Amino acid sequence: MNAKNLSERLKTVASFVEENTILADIGSDHAYLPCYLVHEGIITQAIAGEVVKGPFESAQKQVRNEGLEKQIEVRFGNGLDVIQLTDNVQTITIAGMGGPLIASILEAGKEKLSTVENLILQPNVHAKSIREWAQKENWKIVNETILEEHDKIYEILLLQKGQMELTEQELLVGPLLMKEKSSVFHKKWTNELREWQRIKDQLNKTTESQEVQHKKEELEGKIALVKEVL
Ligand code: SAM
Repeated sequence: MNAKNLSERLKTVASFVEENTILADIGSDHAYLPCYLVHEGIITQAIAGEVVKGPFESAQKQVRNEGLEKQIEVRFGNGLDVIQLTDNVQTITIAGMGGPLIASILEAGKEKLSTVENLILQPNVHAKSIREWAQKENWKIVNETILEEHDKIYEILLLQKGQMELTEQELLVGPLLMKEKSSVFHKKWTNELREWQRIKDQLNKTTESQEVQHKKEELEGKIALVKEVL
């Protein structure tokens, strides 16, 4: 993968980006996504944020090598700390991290979201944390997609300001994804069901305790929710 030849995962994230938006890509690593978007003529201005020195330097090097220093500013810092309100950022992308980490970055930096119209989020796992955060903070899901690449399944969410009220089932599997019920969606949740069932079988073999009982009930709840959808 490089800035001109993105993974399907990042290309799909890129497909959600509106033309000419001012973008901040948080946790940008090599800055492939903003570089690709500028090369494709989709955007002309971006910030690439990184909190780890190695990836920060990779992003700087990539942007320099591509000759994109005028369009992409690489900034070192934690989450949304790299954004100032005067940057007028309209779109934030956060990709390739766990859902709870993405949700915690948004929560910690929520005062930076007043100029932001689109949040494009690609959690590797636990998208539910993002849906819960969005519901609580008055962001609504306007698009969701699911894809498989190299035996891994990814969900991508597009949030815009607005209210939504999701059921437990919708929080878990995604309100739009469960309507669409694609083959990848089916595969993801069939795999999850199998794994939860395996854990439950293990728990059935261990000594009963309050903790074990609680874990089993939690798994049974999730299994029932997902079985109903499939
Ligand atoms: N976004 C790229 C992608 O999707 O291919 C890179 C994903 S990489 C697995 C995650 C990156 O997020 C790492 O480079 C890591 O240093 C960075 N990161 C993790 N927590 C962060 C935070 N709180 N603020 C900024 N960057 C963060």
